[in-house]
Amino acid sequence: MAKLAINGGAPVRSTPFPQYVTIGEEEKRAVMEVLDSTVLSKFLGTWSPDFYGGPRVQKLEREWAEYFGIRHAVSVNSATSGLYAAVGAAGIGPGDEVIVSPYTMTASATAALVYGGIPVFADIDPETFCLSPASIRERITPRTKAIIVVDIFGHPAEMNEIMQIAREHHLVVIEDAAQAPGAHYHGRNAGTLADMGVFSLNYHKTIHCGEGGVVVTNSDEFAERLQLIRNHGEVVVKKKGVTNLVNMVGFNYRMTEIEAAIASEQLKKLESLVAPRIEAAEFLTRELSGLPGLTPPTVRPNVRHGYYIYVMKYDALATGVSREVFAKALRAEGIPLGEGYVEPIYLQPMYQQRIAFGKGGFPFTYPGYQGVLNYEKGLCPVTERMHFKELLHGDFCHAGMMRQDLEDIVCAFRKVSKNTSELA
Ligand SMILES: *Cc1c(COP(=O)(O)O)cnc(C)c1O
Repeated sequence: MAKLAINGGAPVRSTPFPQYVTIGEEEKRAVMEVLDSTVLSKFLGTWSPDFYGGPRVQKLEREWAEYFGIRHAVSVNSATSGLYAAVGAAGIGPGDEVIVSPYTMTASATAALVYGGIPVFADIDPETFCLSPASIRERITPRTKAIIVVDIFGHPAEMNEIMQIAREHHLVVIEDAAQAPGAHYHGRNAGTLADMGVFSLNYHKTIHCGEGGVVVTNSDEFAERLQLIRNHGEVVVKKKGVTNLVNMVGFNYRMTEIEAAIASEQLKKLESLVAPRIEAAEFLTRELSGLPGLTPPTVRPNVRHGYYIYVMKYDALATGVSREVFAKALRAEGIPLGEGYVEPIYLQPMYQQRIAFGKGGFPFTYPGYQGVLNYEKGLCPVTERMHFKELLHGDFCHAGMMRQDLEDIVCAFRKVSKNTSELA
């Protein structure tokens, strides 16, 4: 038996894994067409036909809405902007509580703060790592106005139950599907399962245009509010005849024609970029199942997982080796394995010190807020257990990973698993 690389043996893998490349001739051609047209953006922040942007932006939005089977798609310059706009469109204001996940990219929780809302962290499900419906219920108060749900790692959240809870309590639900384009839930597209859904087109997502995002909704009212927030709403409302002025302070969240042209090409490739992820993940799950102390990702019934990230749970008691040492041994074998994903968001300094906007602690200290803030360690035990103890993750499934690459990953896991006595 080969000696573990961490102890000086030969590593299973000594060359880098393939990069994820989705940009090709199609995108190049699309960009050149935009440049030849000389129209790089056409948005105008006044009530005019150009309020909705140029031809490529509007084409992307039509294509996106059709692809995902939803009434409206509103392009923006990032999913972060999209989340901010969705919170604004939902009418969130100072002191309103928004239930969020602590185990996600920072913006999906922090979006609530931008309108003075108070992020209230619910815990996650220990199998899908998405918000737990039971924990959401425990966090609801008379001040709760919205829930921001995240389809984390590409697995859709338990949306049937969550939408039911929302209906009971008259809450707006925003689905952050940045990591889940191409995932399905009970036959429906992830991202279209809530009142508004947000996709990312950032370069490390499944499809991208450098930076960008799209918000989708079936509501005409939300769509209009998203468009106003995207593009200087306050100066548009009068001529457009908009009477609800809540959160109509506009931003510039506009996408350029170049990004839209690239995104249109990327959308055509989405299925061909998701299918290999699923195939790769299913291979890894098959081959890694049964290794002591490792639990491959769960896929709930009637769910198609998008496998943005391949995650496993690790049990140090079963192996006798800490997660830190186990992961280090795998990295020594040439496998870029991560530990814990992000720190629970409420442990960030901004929440711990209650300082967001200005020196006075707004919105945490907003006098109209009558609730009790809780950002203490221990608030979300499942999230903390995943972050500090159990979760392992890797960017193992993207298109371009060949069978040999996947076999190397499997081989390294088996090698380290078989030789844990060398690590103890
Ligand atoms: C990447 C990501 C975002 C932010 O996307 P940007 O387009 O980079 O702003 C939001 N939420 C989740 C879950 C993400 O993974």
